Amino acid sequence: MNILFMGPPGAGKGTQAAVIVKELGIPHISTGDAFRLAIKQGTPVGLKAKSFIDQGLLVPDDVTIGIVEERLQQSDCEKGFLLDGFPRTLSQAEALDELLTRMNTSLDHVINLNVDRGLLMARLTGRRICTVCGASYHLIFNPPKQEGVCDIDGGALYQRPDDNEESVGKRLDEYDNKTAPLLHFYENKGLLRQVNGENEIDVVSAEIVSLLRG
Ligand code: ADP
Ligand code: AMP
Ligand code: ZN
Repeated sequence: MNILFMGPPGAGKGTQAAVIVKELGIPHISTGDAFRLAIKQGTPVGLKAKSFIDQGLLVPDDVTIGIVEERLQQSDCEKGFLLDGFPRTLSQAEALDELLTRMNTSLDHVINLNVDRGLLMARLTGRRICTVCGASYHLIFNPPKQEGVCDIDGGALYQRPDDNEESVGKRLDEYDNKTAPLLHFYENKGLLRQVNGENEIDVVSAEIVSLLRG
């Protein structure tokens, strides 16, 4: 099953992706995670992406499309995949369509997580991520059992440098201007499904599972 998660930064895409890929046994492909790894490893992609990410701006399409093309052609994607955070522009969506057509496949579900903008700032500035497995926590909304420590593997939690108020404001503007228009693109294809992302994490997961089954 080929799934796409849409929604603004902080909507809960990463949190829900972790649940769904475990359930379905398919790879989770997050362009944000891929960029952060590339930056950590100091690769050419990482060097190109860093200044955009630091400023809360989208990374240019050619860089972004390149990494997704490479990833989707790896053999573990043959049984399906969950894309999170890509596409974020119309050019990326068109490139994805072309790539999937070339691969003789297509998207099965596009799930849009709806969360009011007012809540997103609080979600993102309070977010903490595990240094080992990348799990997303929140200081108030989804705290780990022990402060600063991942429930799953005991890894230390950290705050993403771009999860500060100034950067979040720019990322939400980028979303409104460049990514939100994509919802029409998928609506016109009859693929878009809406989910209320403001509910409790478990309630959102259950709604997504039922949509995927339906
Ligand atoms: P995204 O991947 O869409 O940017 P995340 O999954 O990282 O978003 O979630 C953003 C923040 O909101 C995290 O701190 C996460 O723990 C928290 N969060 C995710 N889903 C919910 C929810 N349904 N209710 C409350 N907080 C949530
Ligand atoms: P995320 O982890 O999804 O919040 O992404 C973190 C940052 O990586 C974003 O603010 C962008 O700078 C960059 N990024 C991630 N995915 C994309 C994409 N599809 N297109 C452009 N930039 C992206
Ligand atoms: Zn962890």
